[in-house]
Amino acid sequence: MKNKTANPLWQKIVSPEAVALMKLIHSFHRGILPAEIGKNILEALKPFINIVCSALILDGLIAGESAASVMKIVCWMVSLNLITALLIALLDWLRKSYLDVWCISQKKFSERALQLDYERLEETETRDMIRMHDETRNMYGGIPGFCEDVGRTVKSFFSIVYSFGLMLPFFFTRTVQGKGMVAYLFTSPVSSVLVLAVLTASIYFSLIFFKKKERKVKEYWEYSLDFTRKFRYYHFLISKYQNGKDIRSYHMSDLLYKGFQEVGRGCSAFLSRQAKLEEIIGGNIIIISQIAVPLFYILVGMKALFGAITVGSILQYVGALSSFYESFTSLMTDLTEMNICANYSKCEIDFFSIENKKYEGQLPVEKRDDNEYELEFRDVSFAYPGTEKKILDHVSFKFKVGSKLALVGKNGAGKTTFIKLLCRLYDPTEGQILLNGIDIKKYDYQEYQSLFSVVFQDFKLFSFELGQNVAASVDYEEERVWDSLDKAGIGDRVRRMKGGLQTVLYQAGDDGVEISGGEAQKIAIARALYKDAPVIILDEPTSALDPISEYEIYSKFDTLVSDKTAIYISHRMSSCRFCDNIAVFDNGTVREMGSHESLMKKKGLYYKMWESQAKYYSEKQMKEVPSFAG
Ligand code: ADP
Repeated sequence: MKNKTANPLWQKIVSPEAVALMKLIHSFHRGILPAEIGKNILEALKPFINIVCSALILDGLIAGESAASVMKIVCWMVSLNLITALLIALLDWLRKSYLDVWCISQKKFSERALQLDYERLEETETRDMIRMHDETRNMYGGIPGFCEDVGRTVKSFFSIVYSFGLMLPFFFTRTVQGKGMVAYLFTSPVSSVLVLAVLTASIYFSLIFFKKKERKVKEYWEYSLDFTRKFRYYHFLISKYQNGKDIRSYHMSDLLYKGFQEVGRGCSAFLSRQAKLEEIIGGNIIIISQIAVPLFYILVGMKALFGAITVGSILQYVGALSSFYESFTSLMTDLTEMNICANYSKCEIDFFSIENKKYEGQLPVEKRDDNEYELEFRDVSFAYPGTEKKILDHVSFKFKVGSKLALVGKNGAGKTTFIKLLCRLYDPTEGQILLNGIDIKKYDYQEYQSLFSVVFQDFKLFSFELGQNVAASVDYEEERVWDSLDKAGIGDRVRRMKGGLQTVLYQAGDDGVEISGGEAQKIAIARALYKDAPVIILDEPTSALDPISEYEIYSKFDTLVSDKTAIYISHRMSSCRFCDNIAVFDNGTVREMGSHESLMKKKGLYYKMWESQAKYYSEKQMKEVPSFAG
């Protein structure tokens, strides 16, 4: 029974990935592919104008036609060449260059990455797609390289079509009769059909070898992708100056060098074997595809000899056949490259088809003058996507805006995860988070997020101007930025920088400024203050600060936070003691909750944590570190 799902022939030749990638590129910009294709169709046509016209001129001269009629053909030839050249120039101008396509596709990719839910962005599959996108772009040209491959394939394909078109009359020439058996045989349709059959068979077998070659090249590229990834990693380790300290102080150069050597040794044997195989298959394609050539030439010569075709036609048919084979061989290579490039750019297609899962409500977040907001976790459980383990396990509690909440607990207890859920970077697996009694999913996502200023433990500053980092925007109010920097205790340091707020952080350009971990933490705190959201969340906000800066931050916290809700994660127990509420996290659950005094009286986990820390600090130190509640 015939397999109904079998791919049509053209799909076996042009891979489905290539078709899907063409559609994607077309959705980026409608002009990229049509201009590229149009230009290459015309480029393929150019040589045939000259072949046809030359044959006509030769026939005209042999037949003794008038100079005027021969000149007419010459004029046609010149005009057609001129028109084609002009059209090619126009399409070349309309066509997007490699760099243009690179910019367009990169812009689309970035837009899509920014639109993705954080949860989706963090998934291993998505990160793999992004990594593949970078790899294939660097190694195989990605989308811009693919567009050029499409252009070359189209050119080769149309050269075949034109040459076949020129060869076609050859198969319908008149049969010479009355000049003997030999003349009859060579000019009869049977001989033409025979040559056509050999031609078709040789093309068919070449296609089989072409597919084989494509598979081998694919294997080779796949393998090279793996080892170049490893090479890149070593290169990245060595070239990034931030790694230099550890590499030198632990004398790791030997380890890295050996790693390099091992990767190199492993791949060279495979690559040389693969290259040989490719050569053999490539050679087979050329031999098979050329089988019909001598037969065709003999037939052309004989037909001309017996008067079935003109002398000018010899020029036309021989030119068409050599162009046919040249284009056929190029088409095999171009198709392989196009299909393989599409195969590696498949990550682009997958990336653009990722769908956001997050439900986005429309409800506006109520702007309340009395700041009477209440946030509630109602029986919330959560496991990270793709994992089973519940990081939060039936967590329930409420807190009000204006109150100060401290989250304490061992590493890995689930405190940061709690913050991520609160800010809706993830949705709970079970249970609900409510703002003023309404599930946070029902609120407009952007509006809901604007309620929070967060300084994550692994916060990031970017290699932009310092002022832009604080304001998280290109334009900013300088006065407010200075005010936030002063409150975070880094204003004076920035004033001493030559560029002030325009100072670019890190070494992106010549004038980038390196800052210490503690300075970066203060700038991150300033960014949270500049946002001026009703809820400020600080996850280990002083871990990189020196004791004096830590003291300054804590002592000013009451002013910094003013009437906002503050949620605060700290391992320094003394800094939480004056919070309205302390939630003690243990293994994904909230084991205890209450004020410092009530939890101390309870003599539970909080008490134990407090006591064990007190062993390392004097009683005076435990009491002295001011809390953000004053
Ligand atoms: P805490 O802030 O209390 O130190 P976290 O909330 O950061 O703890 O982490 C709790 C647990 O969740 C840890 O065991 C950690 O390995 C796991 N975890 C954190 N982030 C992810 C993630 N993106 N995917 C899977 N597991 C994670």
